[in-house]
Amino acid sequence: MSEKEKTEGQIKKDELFYSKKSAFELRSPEELGEAKEYAEGYRKFIDAAKNEREAVVYVSALLRDAGYKEYRLGDKIKPGDRLYLNNRNKSLIAIKAGTGKIDDGVRIIASHIDSPRLDLKPNPLYESDGIAYFKTHYYGGIRKYQWATIPLALHGIVRKTDGETVDVRLGDEPGDPVLCITDLLPHLAKDQNQKPLNQAFTGEGLNLLCGSSPYFESDGKITEADDKVKLNIMIALNEKYGIKEADFLSAELFAVPAQNCVDVGLDRWLMGAYGHDDRVCAYPSVTALIDSGDTEKTSIIVLADKEEVGSDGVAGMQSSMLLDLISELASNLGGNSNVIRVNSKCLSADVTVCFDPMYPEVSEKKNSALLHCGIGLTKYTGAGGKGATNDCPAEFLAEVRKVFDDAGVVWQTGELGKVDQGGGGTVAKFIANRNIDTVDVGVPVLSMHAPFELISKLDLYEAHRAFLAFLKY
Ligand code: MN
Ligand code: MN
Repeated sequence: MSEKEKTEGQIKKDELFYSKKSAFELRSPEELGEAKEYAEGYRKFIDAAKNEREAVVYVSALLRDAGYKEYRLGDKIKPGDRLYLNNRNKSLIAIKAGTGKIDDGVRIIASHIDSPRLDLKPNPLYESDGIAYFKTHYYGGIRKYQWATIPLALHGIVRKTDGETVDVRLGDEPGDPVLCITDLLPHLAKDQNQKPLNQAFTGEGLNLLCGSSPYFESDGKITEADDKVKLNIMIALNEKYGIKEADFLSAELFAVPAQNCVDVGLDRWLMGAYGHDDRVCAYPSVTALIDSGDTEKTSIIVLADKEEVGSDGVAGMQSSMLLDLISELASNLGGNSNVIRVNSKCLSADVTVCFDPMYPEVSEKKNSALLHCGIGLTKYTGAGGKGATNDCPAEFLAEVRKVFDDAGVVWQTGELGKVDQGGGGTVAKFIANRNIDTVDVGVPVLSMHAPFELISKLDLYEAHRAFLAFLKY
């Protein structure tokens, strides 16, 4: 319908109502092409970085290529410096010192680079009835049944007492063996089928099958030693990685899906992969920083660990690392850290729920993020009547809306499901608690926390554009 044919009521409706439009409607064919191209860079990252350590390694290399230098607390900082702080190989903070007055505040984008998975226990290896297993302790919010009968890879490090770090990455390359959790056959699942979904699989039952043959002595005979299969696997581990069983105590070994990122759907607009939450926000925050050029405001990109388990510890968002860094900026650039924080602005960049037509009953559609409609802007997360969340003040939300609108970013509102359906939270509150204006933004995800999550290439690209606009304003 042309403008001429519209009634006054229809024109008023267009003017006054908030409506979501998809990026397919709002972006030009060229821009759609750019989004697909951008996604290829992300694909490389998500395949290379299946845990926080690998993300730190990958992002450090990206930043070095862009001229960033490694920084340690206490080093000198001057205007224009491009730096990154590797926090114990588990989290990373990139800094671009601005040219303006530091007391005017900094721009922070904080995301996380850990994802739900199965961690090996400190003493994991055992055998039962001729099969060897690794015992696991799941990390973060998983739906346990989703992790059975899929190929799992093993990623992480073993730190030996002599200081050597052994990198482990097994199961992703073609021809690599994988690990697996078995499940019952339907023929014998009568009792299991009666159990509620959250009880059919137990945490202690998530054991990874990792071998099934005994050790053979040099004369070709099966060993007389006990635990023949465990011994065989321990010898294989010793030959491949030079480790002994006690070394598992100082290891961080994670079972993650062996599947790499693939396009989903014949039109190739969705990407299916493990760990979009939250590396799908971490990656665009880094590319936006690199593309942002010289800015008046100092930019800080935080890639935190431990978000999935409450953000505790030295590499989590609750550690004092960000505050310490702001203190360093203050002392180096002639400011006051209290003043810097009260004038700073932060996007807490974490994935949001994408409305799923298969499960409409858990979301309230008017307030849910929709697929392809851009980055979600979430005033609050939390649960049980907005509990345990940063409920962003309207003033700052309006400011962010304007930044996105002025830059032509495709964005939308998003809420974490229906009231009292469940809920969740992220790092926003830990930053806001430090007197920094903070709002949640993020890419909508289907099947969040599953071994295979889906995101839209369009929403991913809008995240990059949104972050770029935020760093430059
Ligand atoms: Mn997250
Ligand atoms: Mn999560």
